[in-house]
Amino acid sequence: MECIMVPPGRHHLPPLPYDDNALEPVIGEETLRIHHNILHKAYVDNLNTAELSMVTVRNNDDYQYIKYWEDELAFTGSGHILHSIYWTIMAPLGMGGQPGPNTMHQICCYFGSFDAFKAQFQNAANKVQGSGWGILTWQPTWNRLEILQAEKHQNLTQWSGIPILVCDVWEHAYYLDYQSNRQKFIEDWWALINWFEVERRLILAMSGIVPLTITNEYI
Ligand code: MN
Repeated sequence: MECIMVPPGRHHLPPLPYDDNALEPVIGEETLRIHHNILHKAYVDNLNTAELSMVTVRNNDDYQYIKYWEDELAFTGSGHILHSIYWTIMAPLGMGGQPGPNTMHQICCYFGSFDAFKAQFQNAANKVQGSGWGILTWQPTWNRLEILQAEKHQNLTQWSGIPILVCDVWEHAYYLDYQSNRQKFIEDWWALINWFEVERRLILAMSGIVPLTITNEYI
């Protein structure tokens, strides 16, 4: 079967869709140049390093530093994804147009009005604890938009991912049966997986018809 994907360690810094000074006076030329050419590039480079290191880890079957490398995958991967989006959702002053009909419809469906959406988005972005992002996200599970804050970039996720297979490792999921032996729980849990549902979710996710799969509670 053909593998169409970004191979490990092969991410590239996407070029800006405008000149370095195109967003002035809001974002100055030097700010944009440093942000894109240096900071975003560092995320790309470090993501490539992390992915190639994980290849070595898998080849050597040596998971001693798995937490470090997973943290790197989340931090640099989410940084790369979010910055790549950030550049494309901006345009020079006066060139960005108005919210499109679908955008306006979905915003009004969930937030009630454009003004309410704008107020929540701006407050959420303003109140991010420390460094991070304000994010308008499409929540495919519930077929609607939501506004979320991201602290730093990631909290161990890569934004835009769609969950396919999940394992709850909070203590409440196993403690009565396995006490503190989470590793044994995970090993045994493996036999519970419904691979038919995993396949179905993966096919849906890959099809772009993002899964309205796990709940129809709104119907
Ligand atoms: Mn940034």
